[in-house]
Amino acid sequence: MTDVMTTAASGEPFDVLIVGGGPVGASAAALLQVASKDARRPLRVAVLELSRPGATQPDAPLDPRVSALSRASERILTAIGAWSAMPPSRMQPYERMRVWHESVEPRGGDVLEFDAAYAGEPNLGYIVENRLVQTAALTTFEAAGGRIITGGLSRLRVHDHHVALETSAGTFACRLVVGADGARSIVRESIGLAAETSSYRQTAIVANVRTELPHERTAWQRFLRTGTLAFLPLADGCSSVVWSADDGAAAPLLAMSTSAFEEELLRQSDAVLGAVELRTERLSFPLHKLTAHRFTAHRCALIGDAAHVVHPLAGQGVNLGLLDAAALCELLCAAFRVREDPGAQSVLRRYERWRKSEIAPIALAIDGFNRYLAHGVGPLSHIAQRGLALVNRTDEFKRFFIARALGLDGELPKVARQPPPAQPPSFS
Ligand SMILES: Cc1cc2nc3c(=O)[nH]c(=O)nc-3n(C[C@H](O)[C@H](O)[C@H](O)COP(=O)(O)OP(=O)(O)OC[C@H]3O[C@@H](n4cnc5c(N)ncnc54)[C@H](O)[C@@H]3O)c2cc1C
Repeated sequence: MTDVMTTAASGEPFDVLIVGGGPVGASAAALLQVASKDARRPLRVAVLELSRPGATQPDAPLDPRVSALSRASERILTAIGAWSAMPPSRMQPYERMRVWHESVEPRGGDVLEFDAAYAGEPNLGYIVENRLVQTAALTTFEAAGGRIITGGLSRLRVHDHHVALETSAGTFACRLVVGADGARSIVRESIGLAAETSSYRQTAIVANVRTELPHERTAWQRFLRTGTLAFLPLADGCSSVVWSADDGAAAPLLAMSTSAFEEELLRQSDAVLGAVELRTERLSFPLHKLTAHRFTAHRCALIGDAAHVVHPLAGQGVNLGLLDAAALCELLCAAFRVREDPGAQSVLRRYERWRKSEIAPIALAIDGFNRYLAHGVGPLSHIAQRGLALVNRTDEFKRFFIARALGLDGELPKVARQPPPAQPPSFS
């Protein structure tokens, strides 16, 4: 390995180097490091991250980038110690979801309502700042002995027995590289894993707002003919607006004055929460769909948005990514236990088969919601729009959707199956 300049402190290559310390990469790193903490030879794990965010001040206003975290995600983050590291005062449990099409009354009988109590659960999940998840996971990773390298990946080369990475912080070597570097993954590109991508021709406008009526610990979502408008409840009593609007409609929404935008929010939400006051700037995100044809190659695996990007209307991106992280770590821990090479295709293909088969139907369903509920005008859309009321009146459908919202259906990694306090995968 003559081209290796920098390795773990032991002089050996890292066992696993994760490129991207976003919520998914940071959690994967923490899962691996925490699992091997007490082993005779703890794993050498590193995270390469472009810029590590600073700690959040307890009284700082809530960041507009938030995610709805499922019960499965809660369990994964609990297992690594990140859940308890996040201040409850910044985390809002939500107990209900109310979803309706613009053709019906927002508080009428045709609204689809999911109530946690219906499934005997205290809530359906939590609305949490992305940055909080990321910093908590990075902190627990470091506390368990992991190494965070601040820098950007420029190139990687895969050899028979190791991967060499050229970064702005030096050259590194590892036995397995994990690409958690988001939708524009350089890892994915460098190893030549093709991905199918398409634009939704929509832009998500995100901002925090105060509403005249209380949010009732409820996630509100209205399907409009030009997109989807969601109000997610926040811990400070405000709500996070996520408005996925057709590009043609988004541009004027971003350009208009604050008061005109507030008026539009009131109108397009059908005044379900009364008057709306903007509390942050408007952020915008062009929306794309992405599915990598393969999630793995020799000594490489992709997780999170690097492997798949779905429309935000179902709030699934981080949740699916955390399940990728937990599934990969479970298989890697099993491989390390029997001294199997973590970069071997036999190990990685198991991960790929597992997660691809879980993600494909979810991505398809989310696409269908966007195509037929948020946009459609034809007969299929009409059926889908009427279908919301039907689901609302059918117990089996309702239970299915609640299990989906909780992230507890499908083939779950062990760590997501156990109610807290959960144990991370371990070597023993
Ligand atoms: C408007 C909107 C609302 C959403 N709401 C939800 C929701 O409610 N629930 C949910 O589950 N999901 C939601 N999502 C999706 C969610 O935000 C993403 O799925 C999630 O951020 C993916 O996490 P990740 O860690 O895989 O990637 P990212 O968050 O993109 O993190 C990638 C990391 O890699 C780093 N990186 C990139 N390139 C390099 C490089 N060359 N070298 C080193 N580091 C690098 C970046 O700095 C970054 O920290 C939403 C998305 C949008 C756009």
